[in-house]
Amino acid sequence: MTPRPKLCERSHMERECHCCGDGREWSVTEIYDTVVIGGGIIAAAAGQHLTAAGYRTLLVERGDYGAGTSSKTSRLQHCGLGYLSAASGSIAAFLAHPRSAIECVSLMRRSMQGRAEFVRLAPERVKPVTFIIPLTPENAIPRWRARLAFRLMAASDGGKVPLNLRILSAEEARAHPALQGMVGLKSIRGAMSFTEYQYHWPERIVVDTVMKARANGMEALNHTAVRGLAREGDLWRVTLTAAEGSRDVLARAVVNCAGVWIDEITALAGAPHIRRNTGEKGTNIVVRLPESLRGVGFETMTAAGAPFYLIPWGELHYVGPWDSASDGRPEGFRATEAEIAAILDQLGRLFPSFGLKREDVLYAWAGVRPRSLARDGKGSAPVVREHDLTDEGLPNFFIFTGGLLMTHRDAGRRLTRAVARRLKPSGPPRQLDAPSLHLPDMDQVTEASVAHAVLNEQARTLSDILRRRLSVGWEPDLGLRHVERAAKLTAPHLGWTPDEMAAKIADFIDETTTEFNLRTS
Ligand SMILES: Cc1cc2nc3c(=O)[nH]c(=O)nc-3n(C[C@H](O)[C@H](O)[C@H](O)COP(=O)(O)OP(=O)(O)OC[C@H]3O[C@@H](n4cnc5c(N)ncnc54)[C@H](O)[C@@H]3O)c2cc1C
Repeated sequence: MTPRPKLCERSHMERECHCCGDGREWSVTEIYDTVVIGGGIIAAAAGQHLTAAGYRTLLVERGDYGAGTSSKTSRLQHCGLGYLSAASGSIAAFLAHPRSAIECVSLMRRSMQGRAEFVRLAPERVKPVTFIIPLTPENAIPRWRARLAFRLMAASDGGKVPLNLRILSAEEARAHPALQGMVGLKSIRGAMSFTEYQYHWPERIVVDTVMKARANGMEALNHTAVRGLAREGDLWRVTLTAAEGSRDVLARAVVNCAGVWIDEITALAGAPHIRRNTGEKGTNIVVRLPESLRGVGFETMTAAGAPFYLIPWGELHYVGPWDSASDGRPEGFRATEAEIAAILDQLGRLFPSFGLKREDVLYAWAGVRPRSLARDGKGSAPVVREHDLTDEGLPNFFIFTGGLLMTHRDAGRRLTRAVARRLKPSGPPRQLDAPSLHLPDMDQVTEASVAHAVLNEQARTLSDILRRRLSVGWEPDLGLRHVERAAKLTAPHLGWTPDEMAAKIADFIDETTTEFNLRTS
């Protein structure tokens, strides 16, 4: 085994550091307890929980915080009904796959608990939305079964955040404004309405979480990629690359939260044979639906048994997701014309009278969900969990698979417990949720809001500022009308010349139109 490097009192390496004044030379290579790789919701939660537990933590994100899959979701804090229906398909299905059914029930409980925890902790980041599920001859279930399912869900969080279940009779369903124009309304058996929560700004939840952890002592680098991982004694040497150049840091443990790219990171550490992830692309489109649906969510299943939603988005709705396999390559983060057409087709089958066409799609987005790879290596498993790879030849190397927005705090706790089983923290525990900082004008482009984004919250690009530090990048034109002003206010802070400013504006416009298939006329 390579000998452990000599360290000074402050954990710097021998050669260049003069911090202890003992005449020896120490290098400034930093040693962390944990390096967290990724800057999505799972890495942010892991960094926050590890830091609060006393681990000296560095989080490294190659792009911006919350710009990966965490920014391409259906934005729902589901109550977990979908897991329950997957678990209760039939007795035969349960007996054939009991492990998967038990996992689904556990995921439902964790969803409800995550919902209660987050709604209480960050009410400004979630919005209640009434959803309606039509009960058609194909999917009608007896009332007692619907009530039982909702009682089970309510019991999972102790009834802390009400689900407000209402079961509508066939007559009430036929008269419900949100169901007008729906195919088969005449033969409808009833409907269920209940309260879901929407994360209307998940990117900001990621940034909030990273900033809270930084306020607690975590170091975090965005626009910095992990390019190498190697053992050095009983530490990990982590090679980081940013526009300014490369440098190495050392860590007692690596926490790989790179979402759909976790297997790539594990391969960097010398274990390409360890595969735990598979990707599933999902696409949503944004359209204007009739007034009768304003503010109401609608949920059903496609013929293939996949959930299909109409979710309010200001005065608009986003509709989807449409799923297909993907491995996380950049094209997985662009909606194709075929996917947009498939969503329109599904919507047309449900509500033929809407008559929506391609030109009615204002914009679209796609992302690739990280899914746990099934044990047989084929397809995905409904598993959301941490893995300790120590016994597979990667000491103190942890990963998280299948991570979701809605259970991110549970992911942070699970990863911290896994690390704690191997390593003691080098520092004392701290409060997990530092009080929120006062943030100026987050819904406007002002001198104060831009300065805060750049100087205090590590924003480096116009999309960092407009979509992830301020909310204006989610207005119906995706922030295009704010870009020039934002660039002018940013330039003095980041030293942009007029030519650089023009190039940054062009980058933002290009990114917005291609990443979101934005209809600009
Ligand atoms: C269409 C769709 C709908 C969804 N709907 C919901 C929903 O309604 N509710 C819900 O809870 N979940 C939903 N999800 C799932 C959820 O969005 C994801 O599971 C979750 O965001 C994953 O977070 P993450 O942190 O694991 O991944 P990411 O957010 O992708 O973060 C991983 C990060 O790792 C970084 N990274 C990769 N390689 C490196 C490297 N070498 N160095 C440094 N950084 C690196 C990436 O840049 C990325 O930012 C949906 C997903 C999709 C696609």
